Amino acid sequence: AKAAGKHQYRFYAEAMTRAAQDKLHLRGQLSQAVAKGEFEVHYQPQVELTTGRLIGLEALVRWRQADGRLIPPGAFIPLAEETGLIIPLGTWVLREACAQAVRWQAEGYPELGVSVNVSVRQWEEPAFMPLVQQILLDTGLSPSHLILEITESVLLSDPQDARMQAEGLASLGVRVALDDYGTGYSNLSQLQSLRIGQLKLDRSFVQPLPGGPREQALVQSALTLGQALDARVVAEGIETEEQLLMLHALGCPVGQGYFLGRPVPAAEFEVQHLQR
Ligand code: C2E
Ligand code: CA
Ligand code: CA
Ligand code: CA
Repeated sequence: AKAAGKHQYRFYAEAMTRAAQDKLHLRGQLSQAVAKGEFEVHYQPQVELTTGRLIGLEALVRWRQADGRLIPPGAFIPLAEETGLIIPLGTWVLREACAQAVRWQAEGYPELGVSVNVSVRQWEEPAFMPLVQQILLDTGLSPSHLILEITESVLLSDPQDARMQAEGLASLGVRVALDDYGTGYSNLSQLQSLRIGQLKLDRSFVQPLPGGPREQALVQSALTLGQALDARVVAEGIETEEQLLMLHALGCPVGQGYFLGRPVPAAEFEVQHLQR
């Protein structure tokens, strides 16, 4: 038994070393990828549920490796955050998405808004606000068409600071969206003190729909909160017509999800959503 234990330990240690090496390798590749510009922004439509009108889009980053493979953000964003590479990467995504929105606005969609994900690391950079201002200036996007998506985790380290930054962005005219709403654990008073322009209802609340009274009541409570906070609710992860119809029946104003459109490259987005 002792020998087996030792053997198991060695196996474990080797596996750990491999994992650490893989990570180191990925880390090296990632920093080169930032330098080489191997990233792409894909866009997913956001649709007004009463009219079916396209009102916005979410920018979602992907990594196009040299061999053509497309790596989803879940596989590299955490490492980018850990290494600080999220700062240059996030800046690039923000600039790219704003510039793209301006082009599409000029092509006949003047009201199109663009939502960009912001990691805690970026949000906490002292230079974040000036950066946002600079990018708006450089690209010519009006602040009212930019939505920055953050998660409740920005409240963890310095809630007071998060509050002030959200205020500052609001005073510029930029809206802040609370992403993945319903998966965190902030209390209502914390949320209430944060100036939020949009509430993104996590897909775990959408998936069970049409559901029963219980599932519907949870969505309803998010809609009520949205109203109280003066924040527009966007339902995430709509995959079926049944889910869409129930959200519409419950009074949810905006939806996003595979049923309405998957995230696609800009050229594909034009074909799918901007040609009438
Ligand atoms: P998120 O911000 O919650 O983005 C929504 C995710 O759900 C996206 O995954 C999207 O492709 C996926 N999704 C959309 N509709 C549906 C649906 O109907 N069903 C299902 N099952 N999924 C749907 P994606 O693109 O893989 O991004 C994953 C996460 O990576 C994002 O979650 C966000 O947290 C992060 N991320 C993506 N782009 C960026 C970025 O530019 N910067 C930062 N900091 N994070 C990013
Ligand atoms: Ca998001
Ligand atoms: Ca989300
Ligand atoms: Ca997320």
